[in-house]
Amino acid sequence: MNLELSEEQTAVRRLARDFVEREIAPHVVDWDRAESVDRSIVKKLGEVGFLGLTVDEEYGGSGGDHLAYCLVTEELGRGDSSVRGIVSVSLGLVAKTIAAWGSEEQKRRWLPGLTAGEYVGCFGLTEPGTGSDAGNLATRAVRDGDHYVLDGTKMFITNGTWADVVLLFARSTDAPGHKGVTAFLVPTDTPGLTRRTVHGKLGLRGQATAELVMEGVRVPASAMLGPEGKGFGVAMSALAKGRMSVAAGCVGIAQAALDAAVRYAGEREQFGRPIAHHQLVQELLSDIAVDVDAARLLTWRVADLVDRGLPFATEASKAKLFASEAAVRAANNALQVFGGYGYIDEYPVGKLLRDARVMTLYEGTSQIQKLLIGRALTGVSAF
Ligand code: FAD
Repeated sequence: MNLELSEEQTAVRRLARDFVEREIAPHVVDWDRAESVDRSIVKKLGEVGFLGLTVDEEYGGSGGDHLAYCLVTEELGRGDSSVRGIVSVSLGLVAKTIAAWGSEEQKRRWLPGLTAGEYVGCFGLTEPGTGSDAGNLATRAVRDGDHYVLDGTKMFITNGTWADVVLLFARSTDAPGHKGVTAFLVPTDTPGLTRRTVHGKLGLRGQATAELVMEGVRVPASAMLGPEGKGFGVAMSALAKGRMSVAAGCVGIAQAALDAAVRYAGEREQFGRPIAHHQLVQELLSDIAVDVDAARLLTWRVADLVDRGLPFATEASKAKLFASEAAVRAANNALQVFGGYGYIDEYPVGKLLRDARVMTLYEGTSQIQKLLIGRALTGVSAF
């Protein structure tokens, strides 16, 4: 693979870096303390084209390849993982899945609004009783004439309280396909759908995470995304690319941890000289630097495979597994460099660690990634 960025890729990274400096960095601490990023950021992300990356211009997208998408995601993750998550879900899990699986009518209905930041999308797979074993979900879709009636509860849904549309996975009683899971695009103002904000998160506090409850939610059969009974495949295809996006966000966290730790080590003096002069501090810094590079290279490899139309799902699991664990390690090592000051939120590294921690949990825990990689290696499903 060619590790040289093209002019367009370099330009989009610069654009993202400037956007983060201008629109995100000044607010990060306040948003984290307030447990909400300012919603106006969604429109700004749309205006600059970040919510339309890789989507065809015909549907309001801004085009570009997956490496450009990863570069932007990394920069957003470097700035604020809560904002990065808005893009990874609304574009990465929802808009891109509509672009891949949607009918012409669904694409025209949803993509221009999602890519412009006028709509927010959320991805409703996890339930209170099913997380890792997502295929075992209990939400029901019962056919009633030319409609479906949805009943069930979704848990931990990123963007949930803000979203205009939920890509919802339900067990369709009619479906003969894989475990009968079917995907639906459900407007969140549909009667019978209620939402509750999940408070008290360790990290990603700025993100609107919600529980969604569906009681007799009626949607037309045309709301179905992809064939009936093939919804689990829709979900897994979305998550494979989603893992690339999470990995890129983790690279951003690790890079931010490295930048902050190197700067602080040059400024903070102990034993009569900057702590950067102490060998064990240099060990912490070099451990972070190796994690950043390794995570970035694994992530770029996935983007390269996607852009060349080659199989990428197992490589996405490897990148997500490594990058998420690396982000936690990097943020933790950076906190060690900061000493006691790392433990208070005037300095950035505590938030990086809190935000990094969930990356080993969502879109498949580290254990689930290992089982996916193990299955690819052995042909044996050990779930
Ligand atoms: P469980 O599945 O109960 O797992 C608990 C533990 O058991 C884990 O350590 C797991 O690795 C382990 N385990 C489970 N099965 C096995 C096995 N077979 N072998 C070995 N170990 C196993 N979901 C969405 O659908 N949409 C979202 O937008 C979304 N956003 C999220 C945002 C946040 C902040 C959080 C915290 C979660 C979000 N999730 C979302 C849910 C997330 O994907 C799940 O939390 C995750 O899949 C794990 O499920 P669980 O929490 O039910 O844990």
